[in-house]
Amino acid sequence: TEAARNPMDPADETAIAPSHGRDLFSKFDALIAEREALLDTGVRDPFGLVMEQVLSPTRAIIKGKETILLGTYNYMGMTFDPDVVAAGKQALDDYGAGTTGSRVLNGTYQGHREVEEALKDYYGTAHAMVFSTGYQANLGLMATIAGKEDYIILDADSHASIYDGCALGNAQIVRFRHNSVEDLERRLKRLPPEGGRLVVLEGVYSMLGDIAPLKEMVEVAKRHGAMVVVDEAHGMGFFGEKGRGVFEEAGVEDQVDFVVGTFSKSVGTVGGFIVSNHPKFEVLRLVCRPYVFTASLPPSVVATAATSIRKLMHAGEKRAHLWENSRRLHQGLRELGFTLATPEPQSAIIAVLLADQQTTVLMWQALLEAGVYVNMARPPATPAGMYLLRCSLCAEHSREEVGRILEMFAAAGRATGVIA
Ligand code: PMP
Repeated sequence: TEAARNPMDPADETAIAPSHGRDLFSKFDALIAEREALLDTGVRDPFGLVMEQVLSPTRAIIKGKETILLGTYNYMGMTFDPDVVAAGKQALDDYGAGTTGSRVLNGTYQGHREVEEALKDYYGTAHAMVFSTGYQANLGLMATIAGKEDYIILDADSHASIYDGCALGNAQIVRFRHNSVEDLERRLKRLPPEGGRLVVLEGVYSMLGDIAPLKEMVEVAKRHGAMVVVDEAHGMGFFGEKGRGVFEEAGVEDQVDFVVGTFSKSVGTVGGFIVSNHPKFEVLRLVCRPYVFTASLPPSVVATAATSIRKLMHAGEKRAHLWENSRRLHQGLRELGFTLATPEPQSAIIAVLLADQQTTVLMWQALLEAGVYVNMARPPATPAGMYLLRCSLCAEHSREEVGRILEMFAAAGRATGVIA
């Protein structure tokens, strides 16, 4: 009978391809063809790399070869910190592998409270709320606090999680030109007086490694009656005296309503958070769907995060070394003749601009074969159709490693014709 038919039966020719209606995967045909054409040229798949062994925050074995990692978000090198690793192992023994539940049901353990306490101490805020990823923290904040009558005003180059949060909620979305204080103000002036306003900014923009003019932007936002959220995913750990982020360095801490962050970069594990002093903040635990309707982080993860965050409070030397690495790499690459996304090093991300996909992949592969891994980024993740090789530095890169990286860039750049 029809009901007994197995739609996955490979012997049934009608089973997999539907006889009528369009194959829903046909929309990906152009992408599949483009990828196949690229791989047919014999290059390695830049999005299919495997770290066979990870030796330290800055070294891994890839295709049997020891490789320097210059494309991670491990800015402060906390992934192998002995105290962090020990805390994770202990929590695994004491609390087991996972919570199997939401934060609002059985999924809040002692460790979740402790990591929220660590965040409150780190940021000096009254409230901290931990999510399973930074992606979900942004998704939750944007979708929950701005309703149908409200406006979210966001930088055009905002992270996908911010855009997705906007799409999940009902607010009116207004974009302003990347890092343009004038455009932000123009858009705010045009809004009708009724309705709430949320301005969404990032401390560091991760594709080009440029920072936002937060002092000016927050001033404009506040003058026009908006609440402000700053995503400090790429700024936590090494901006500002306390390592809170670009908003601390810009001196706007008392004017920012929410800071969103992640454990997946400087903290060295996985998870996301929002910190705030808003007196009604705690209500979010009841109404924020990406917080309520998903399982909480495993006990080992929150234990590693809490230990790492507390250590980052006293990481002044690491911070200084990370900045030194960033300055050396930026200067070295510029002297070699590469085109960089920012005129000076603004963060721990140095983005090298390349002409097109083919050159970018060739250069990426030449670097990998020489022994350094960088991130390749291309549209639609990048602004203005750019092709980039993104280098992100780690506080654990030694002077000698940065020197080796520059030698490898010189050789790969010449071999591919990117530099003379
Ligand atoms: N915000 C920004 C600016 C990011 O770059 C990222 C991740 N790259 C996130 C949020 C999401 O963080 P997570 O990895 O914790 O989901």
